[in-house]
Amino acid sequence: MKGCDAWEELEQKMERVMPVKAALTLLEWDNETLAPEEAGSLTAKIQGGLAESYHQMMTDEALKEALKRCEACAGAAERGLAGAEGSGDETGGSTADGLDQEEVRRAILREAREEYDRLSRIPREEYRAYQELTAKSARVWARAKESRDFSLFAPVLKEVLDYQKRFAGYQAKPGQKLYDVMLDEYEKGFGMKELDEFFRMLKEELVPFLKQVQESPVRIHDGFLTGDYPEDQQRELAEYLAGYVGFDFRRGVLAESAHPFTTALHNRDVRLTTHYSEKVDSSLFSVIHEAGHGIYEQGIDDSLTQTLAGEGASMAMHESQSRFFENVIGRNEAFWVPVYGRLKEWFPEQLKGVGRDVFVRAVSRVQPGLIRTEADELSYSLHILVRYELEKQLVEEDLDVEELPGLWAEKYEEYLGVRPEHDGEGVLQDIHWSQGSFGYFPSYALGSAFAAQMYAHMKKVMDVDGLLEAGQIEPVREYLREHVHRFGKVRTSRQILRDMTGEDFNPRYYVDYLKEKYGKLYQIQT
Ligand code: ZN
Repeated sequence: MKGCDAWEELEQKMERVMPVKAALTLLEWDNETLAPEEAGSLTAKIQGGLAESYHQMMTDEALKEALKRCEACAGAAERGLAGAEGSGDETGGSTADGLDQEEVRRAILREAREEYDRLSRIPREEYRAYQELTAKSARVWARAKESRDFSLFAPVLKEVLDYQKRFAGYQAKPGQKLYDVMLDEYEKGFGMKELDEFFRMLKEELVPFLKQVQESPVRIHDGFLTGDYPEDQQRELAEYLAGYVGFDFRRGVLAESAHPFTTALHNRDVRLTTHYSEKVDSSLFSVIHEAGHGIYEQGIDDSLTQTLAGEGASMAMHESQSRFFENVIGRNEAFWVPVYGRLKEWFPEQLKGVGRDVFVRAVSRVQPGLIRTEADELSYSLHILVRYELEKQLVEEDLDVEELPGLWAEKYEEYLGVRPEHDGEGVLQDIHWSQGSFGYFPSYALGSAFAAQMYAHMKKVMDVDGLLEAGQIEPVREYLREHVHRFGKVRTSRQILRDMTGEDFNPRYYVDYLKEKYGKLYQIQT
């Protein structure tokens, strides 16, 4: 596509769209962190205006023409390549360790085409009405959650779901199921066929294993994790840990928000948030998790950043990186060998008499509970299993939303052995459905499974635990940058996983990883 006029035109158009996208990102971040309480509705107007500009620019006729002409160039280039084998530098300017620039251009073109199609298939009026509805439904959800009453939320949830089904219908290819369309939006190549199999394996293996863990006579002492951990020290420690695992503070910042998250304007401005809590492990692992997301964004290649392909490959791939740092590295005794002494310097009183092994066991304890965001590593994916099964029923079997609280409670009892006493700690706990994010949840579990597969592979090519023990995280992080981060959206998550591990996605690694780690901790023969 190099030398194609249309490509330059597309690039120019994108250079006008991307700043609007960045401004929206920054406003979202600001809303969650620094914006004053009363900013709400007026800032929402700014966001609405910007979102509309973005929509207009991305569905513009001239953009459509540029896309068509670029696709023609790309097609011609491919045919040319096929006909002229070994014709040298036709692939266009890849350097020894940089990305193939022709592959980059194709990825940007593909992303722009998908975004154009996605937005232009939804009638503008409906799109606006839906934006208003989700702004309202998030508020209704928050009120319902506070009053622990699902019936307040049910009518608006039904409306959001109806919109989502209609929108999925606009996007569906002939014969494609609606829930598959929704799943595809977050994770390409993982529809119900793949996910049914994945979740079936988790259900068959992890539900009984979790019961064995709960019946184990091993008791883990963790009382010292809750207590008087001053916020200022937690903040210093959070910065230390983020930096230690490799988050670059010259290219990023750390702030505070109720629900930790990460966002990026580009690879030199990556924003993390975390929270501080009297449960010190919650704050420690939340910052390591977000730093994992941040390291991913900082590692995206310079030739991709500020383009539509300059983000993480997918939701699950992003989550694989945060969970790799949080769980595979962070909940690993080797990691704490060089770090635990520092932790004790910050909290000498609180951790008095607590040895490193006791600390690591405590932060790895299994305690199935009702709240997904507080779940331990082992039971986490069972929270996702509940949501996956319910979403599928809502979308594919027209389950009445009124049935949700009852089914939710039954499934929690069956898979996790706990039953919510009210909707606030049950079906109302997550914001996702109020925002119309159906199909999002499975990426959390998939990400964990990707991380386990990567770990199994990396242990074959380097001594991961030995490096951690020696305080050398850099080679581990660099390996991930080289094989995952720098590609942004140039390759799909499936391709990245296959290129890195030499194998297609295989959830067996995840189940084995969990059984080995927690079997050892709870002395269960597996
Ligand atoms: Zn995350």
